[in-house]
Amino acid sequence: MRVLVVGSGGREHSLAWKIRASPRVQRVYCAPGNAGIEEVAELVPIAADDIASLARFAEEQEIDLTVCGPEVPLTLGIADEFHARGLRLFGPNRSGARLEGSKAFTKDLLRRNAIPTAYYGAFNDADEAKRYLHEVGAPIVVKADGLAAGKGVIVCATVKEAEEAIGEMMRGRIFGDAGAHIVIEEFLEGEEVSFIALTDGKTVLPLASSQDHKRALDGDRGPNTGGMGAYTPAPIVSKDLHDRLMREVMEPMVAALSAATIDYRGVLYAGIMVTPNGPKVLEFNARFGDPECQPLMLRLKSDIVDLMDACIDRRLHEVQIEWDERAAACVVLAAGGYPGDYEKGTPIHGLDRLHDWKGGVVFHAGTARRNGSVVTNGGRVLGVTALGDTIADAVAEAYRATRLIEWDGMFYRHDIGHRALGV
Ligand code: AMP
Repeated sequence: MRVLVVGSGGREHSLAWKIRASPRVQRVYCAPGNAGIEEVAELVPIAADDIASLARFAEEQEIDLTVCGPEVPLTLGIADEFHARGLRLFGPNRSGARLEGSKAFTKDLLRRNAIPTAYYGAFNDADEAKRYLHEVGAPIVVKADGLAAGKGVIVCATVKEAEEAIGEMMRGRIFGDAGAHIVIEEFLEGEEVSFIALTDGKTVLPLASSQDHKRALDGDRGPNTGGMGAYTPAPIVSKDLHDRLMREVMEPMVAALSAATIDYRGVLYAGIMVTPNGPKVLEFNARFGDPECQPLMLRLKSDIVDLMDACIDRRLHEVQIEWDERAAACVVLAAGGYPGDYEKGTPIHGLDRLHDWKGGVVFHAGTARRNGSVVTNGGRVLGVTALGDTIADAVAEAYRATRLIEWDGMFYRHDIGHRALGV
């Protein structure tokens, strides 16, 4: 088989690495990829959102399967375009990807199907939003309706902060058009988990449990980011909680999508807050979580191409999924300033020392090759991902490798896994 992976982050590196390991696969391409993906796939200089060029490439190169990593091409309809041309693509179509592309759409679907989530109001008008805010008070969460790379959410301790957030999103457009519509939502307290599953529109096949770290700094301080680290399994997801999430969230959601005549096949990822009143949905994503995908791919024993095929062909009820019994952890190394402004083009040192690393894989995210050396090319630069007998062992191994890498301005969190480790 010939497989094309679309995207250029740590998620796509781990997917390409896992796809490369399939005995069914002869060639892997990645568009546009990065300096690490280059070691497992042939890079194709086409942007992830240039759907017409990607489809043309897939036709010309007779690609058997395209795997779309990020959400933006999904919300732009990459699956619809590929399917219209008779090309196989793993990932939901445009109507399915609205689950991630519009928070108001998803909240409405959740409410109509009695799936537990925070109470909320959706607004197109700043004055109306502020009236609602004064009714419900603070703490409160203000969210841009559209895609904002995981950053369009402002948790507000006071009504004044929330008023400012509404103004900045709706009038100041700090998140561009994503903030033209907003959702104001009840503040939920608890522990977050990522419940990631595959679905073919009927069957839900959950992946191993995982958790990520959204905040930039140790102790869950600082601004929200795309994710600074992750691990699997997540001890908080007991058998009871797992069953409850399947029964109260995943299965009703798949049924709701189907009832709404949405043909949803691909990854269904529920961001969950485990509150004292039970689990509640924070958001849905239409793709693998990044960084969660990185430790998950390290633990996945099944052939991922078989799983994706079963999803596309609506045969998910026929397949089993096998995991390495060990734990895995990923430490994200980021460029100074992220999630705000950061520099690009800084040389990265120490990667050669990890070339033959036995404990895990250094997945690349924002990297590029310049004159033969690897330089930074994004906010999240590397995902140092290790296996271990326990989460503590996996985390220790990831940090051992992390200490061999350096560049000017590099930072990372020192407490990945703290919830699982009880520290
Ligand atoms: P979202 O993109 O909606 O998942 O929001 C990003 C992050 O903001 C979440 O992972 C949480 O850490 C935080 N967050 C979102 N909604 C809420 C909420 N209702 N209560 C508390 N924290 C929230």
